[in-house]
Amino acid sequence: MNAKPFEEIESEVRAYCRTWPTVFERAGGSYVYDEAGRPFLDFFTGVATLSYGHHHPVLKQALIRYVQDEGIMHSVDSYTVAKREFLERFRHRVLAPRRLDYKVMFPGPTGTNAVEAALKLARKVTGRPTVARFTNAFHGLTLGALALTGNGFKRQAAGVPLGHTVTLPFDGYLADAGVGFTWFRRLLEDGGSGVDTPAAVIVECVQGEGGMNPAGPEWLAELAALCREHGMLLIVDDVMMGCGRTGPFFSFEPAGITPDVVCLSKALSGYGLPLAVVLLRPELDVWQPGEHSGTFRGNNAAFVTAAAALDHFWADDALEKQTYANSEELVDGLGRIAAEHSALGAGVRGAGLALGLYLQPEGLALEVCRAAFDRGLLVELCGPRRQVVMVLPPLTASGDELSTGLEILSESVRRAGSRRS
Ligand code: PLP
Repeated sequence: MNAKPFEEIESEVRAYCRTWPTVFERAGGSYVYDEAGRPFLDFFTGVATLSYGHHHPVLKQALIRYVQDEGIMHSVDSYTVAKREFLERFRHRVLAPRRLDYKVMFPGPTGTNAVEAALKLARKVTGRPTVARFTNAFHGLTLGALALTGNGFKRQAAGVPLGHTVTLPFDGYLADAGVGFTWFRRLLEDGGSGVDTPAAVIVECVQGEGGMNPAGPEWLAELAALCREHGMLLIVDDVMMGCGRTGPFFSFEPAGITPDVVCLSKALSGYGLPLAVVLLRPELDVWQPGEHSGTFRGNNAAFVTAAAALDHFWADDALEKQTYANSEELVDGLGRIAAEHSALGAGVRGAGLALGLYLQPEGLALEVCRAAFDRGLLVELCGPRRQVVMVLPPLTASGDELSTGLEILSESVRRAGSRRS
């Protein structure tokens, strides 16, 4: 492997490459291949970005046709045919069937861009500076989003105070599972509590980077009710868990709630092309023209693959059903691994195809990742102490691929665990 150019030229900030000592070259379906032609089953999917696998043929054809026809590639926010088709598809395939009435805003094309835009909007609409967020939340690494992110290692890199936030315990964070929002409601209602009403509450329905922690539907419904009562906007950050990762298109659907604002990115283009949107209730659309802007809001290639993905995967509920079925299988398989390694405090977390295998001993999860890599499986870590192996297969992975991934993971835990006993 020739890693010299990376080591000599690229910044020390590079990260994932340190778990996977190879140089990747191509990809197709659920596999990526390194430059020596070695296949790796991809249960990482660009942290839940390549949800339809690599180079899905329908999306690839749409993209090739568009480029061959010399379609507009970059347009800032001019009107283009590709953008019109994306917006129409989004309304037809996603919003209308769910009776959701949202305006679509295009921020810069990353998740953190979407979160920044949502924050700015919430503050502008309410005139209030603080935003409430949850323990172990991850919302991105630009300053506004970083202020909402829990991870101390990421926060200390900011170099300036990260403020204007209120921290709330995520579902299950406190030992008393019944805590809910009683105490927060009390703080909001008590003029002597010292807590000013925040502009918004931002939440992930399943915390991804924070450790694959799912919020219960009742907890989410209570949060939505509290937000309504106190005029706080409810922002669902669906950057990682949206676009079907947990089963339904939006991760908040099982809770029966309608957020005021929703952030989407990652899997939205379906092809790994950068694209983000902020969905906002029409009455919140108080932006002045150009007040929030950005050069790469018009990624037309991403509009093309996103529209193709919506037509191909979201015309019915087949993918959602398949995700639930595959999830059951994976949860069973991971449960067997956890049971075999109960001495390691192993446990299964998550929802849909956003799952995690928790391993208590410090550093063990990383050893499992490395052992999995040696056996041809790509998995990475999450959680505040990196104790959770993320299991994020493509939503399109076949039953055989899921079984192969589970087998490799099982062997890898056995191998890494045996070194500990
Ligand atoms: N929000 C959530 C929930 C995320 O998981 C992430 C990234 O993992 C982000 C925001 C930031 O997205 P990006 O890395 O595209 O800025």
